[in-house]
Amino acid sequence: MTGGKVLIVEDNPVNLRLAQFLLEKKGFTVRKAGSGAECLAEMARELPDIVLMDIQLPSEDGLAVTRKIRSDPRLKGVIVVALTAHAMAGDRERILAAGCDGYIPKPVDPQGLPDQAKAEIARLEEELRRSTEREAARQEELHQLEQQRVDQLGAMDAHLNAMRSAVERYLQQGRKAA
Ligand code: MN
Repeated sequence: MTGGKVLIVEDNPVNLRLAQFLLEKKGFTVRKAGSGAECLAEMARELPDIVLMDIQLPSEDGLAVTRKIRSDPRLKGVIVVALTAHAMAGDRERILAAGCDGYIPKPVDPQGLPDQAKAEIARLEEELRRSTEREAARQEELHQLEQQRVDQLGAMDAHLNAMRSAVERYLQQGRKAA
């Protein structure tokens, strides 16, 4: 299957843009909703193939929205996959009990880690200017931080690719037997 209609329900604009960018790049048609109410309105307008449902949403959480989707016969056949930052013990059962077909990890915030690393690098560079005493050691530390940043960006890329593969897999499988 190439592409498919995806509705992303996510209140974090960074996560939303990231997932949208990644999926559109791979030929998916992406629509967005920032809340449960927006999600239901979008679904009434046009039925997607798959809904990527953030669990933590303002007002109504993603599980409550999923229960509404499952109780509406007009929305039958739509795949709903939960997006979770950290799946805890017991979350899987709650997610499946609400009517989700499964869950995949959310994209990581791309701003947090690299910016943090950048700030650390700037701090070390400043220290380097002030002190030449342990310069060699600090150079090494600086080099390691830069490497860490490269690794973080690589990990983020791998994470996003994993998410895209999961979406494709769910679309191929279709709705599990009710
Ligand atoms: Mn959220």
